[in-house]
Amino acid sequence: MKPSTQEDKVIDEGRQGEAVTSVEVVASIMTSQGYETTRNAEDADVVLINTCSIRENAEIRVRKRLGDFKKRKESNPDLVVGILGCMAERLKKSLLEEEKLVDLVAGPDAYRDLPNLVDEVGTGQKAVNVLLSRDETYADISPVRLDQGGVSAFVTIMRGCDNMCSFCVVPFTRGRERSRDPHTIVNECKELFNAGYREVTLLGQNVDSYRWNLSSKGEIKDDTQPTTNFAQLMEMVALVSPDLRVRFSTSHPKDMTDDVLEIMEKYENICEYIHLPVQSGHTDVLHRMNRGYSREWYLDRIDAIRRIVSNCAISTDIISGFCGETEEEHKATLSLMDEVCYEYAYMFKYSERPKTLAERRFDDDVPEDVKGRRLIEIIDKQNAHSLATNQKDIGKMYKILVEGPSRRSAEQYCGRNGRNSMVIFDRNGVEKGQYVMVKITDCTSATLLGEYIETCPSA
Ligand code: SAH
Ligand code: SF4
Repeated sequence: MKPSTQEDKVIDEGRQGEAVTSVEVVASIMTSQGYETTRNAEDADVVLINTCSIRENAEIRVRKRLGDFKKRKESNPDLVVGILGCMAERLKKSLLEEEKLVDLVAGPDAYRDLPNLVDEVGTGQKAVNVLLSRDETYADISPVRLDQGGVSAFVTIMRGCDNMCSFCVVPFTRGRERSRDPHTIVNECKELFNAGYREVTLLGQNVDSYRWNLSSKGEIKDDTQPTTNFAQLMEMVALVSPDLRVRFSTSHPKDMTDDVLEIMEKYENICEYIHLPVQSGHTDVLHRMNRGYSREWYLDRIDAIRRIVSNCAISTDIISGFCGETEEEHKATLSLMDEVCYEYAYMFKYSERPKTLAERRFDDDVPEDVKGRRLIEIIDKQNAHSLATNQKDIGKMYKILVEGPSRRSAEQYCGRNGRNSMVIFDRNGVEKGQYVMVKITDCTSATLLGEYIETCPSA
């Protein structure tokens, strides 16, 4: 029998979607070649570590994790250890030299080659494939869901990114933007629904620039075939079943058009939640970041969301201490936060990444302690806003998709409302995957507490 594999999810500070789908695609490729997955690292003969390079911290964690496998490799020299994903792409062969433990390095477009690479290692060689592709989308691969019996799944609709934000390593590690055939996406969502899933999150670095059979300038590539933009794709997925909730992430503000918002409002099963990363509240910083929009343009998009989508929650990403950021520019981020009052935010200290435009053009000149202090100010403000927005929900009724027992007690169940808020309530016999109405009675800045009212027939 061929060896079994153990895929390891490297968690990107709460943003796990892309890591999960990559792992599932890899699991599908390996199992189609006779490998098996295992939940127990001790049982594995092949360990494939999926990585992210976006912030320096993620890479530091991977190197620490490799240390954990050192002893196992000493006692079992046949153990194959591979590094996949962004970090593999960024460091290529040098990873094999720096980390003696590593036998195999595969970039994000090389997963179909993994069985060959593992065989190559079996012949006593180190194996590398870091070729990036212009058209690999893994569209025909049906991901193996590792959380059998789950409620919510990620579905990759596009790969790569053409945006070249100056701080970001993604265009170098994930390659050019390419969208996946809409019919394979819809089929995957149908299969998920039939397997009991009740929520899909359409995933990509920039989902609102999704386009099928259209060039980046909007020209039709093949006039015998239909074209599909993101709003149309969402509609196709929403029509899979009214009981399948649809989410998406991440949207780039420059591509967030009114037609996407109108489709969100039209279908009850498209969740009223948008993650719209702003990064900074000052136009000059946004310009240095090469984000392609100004503060005013971003705020106009926020107005459009509020105008078109009823009761829509908005979250964001913010970077503190980007190159040359002055105190006044930092204050502009705080004032933008006050204007928008985000429900939630992912907040980071700027870390310089190799090869990026910012590394080549600007000095990483904001001192660490200043970056840290600004980040704390941003986090404090966000916590206050999260609490205030949650408090406004007290007394309201929400439809929740039940995810299962809460972390604290088996008697309490949890689930999210369409706005992506986590709600905890007494179980009352409900089952995972059901939709229930809950009345909100209390909250913290992170969660809503509710009272079960009734089970709903559908989404
Ligand atoms: N494609 C998404 C973001 C992907 S990266 C978008 O454009 O919105 C996720 C987040 O990591 C970014 O939004 C940014 O806030 C943060 N990030 C990326 N590179 C970073 C860096 N060099 N230093 C600090 N944070 C960074
Ligand atoms: Fe990176 Fe910008 Fe692309 Fe997001 S849109 S992945 S931040 S380059």
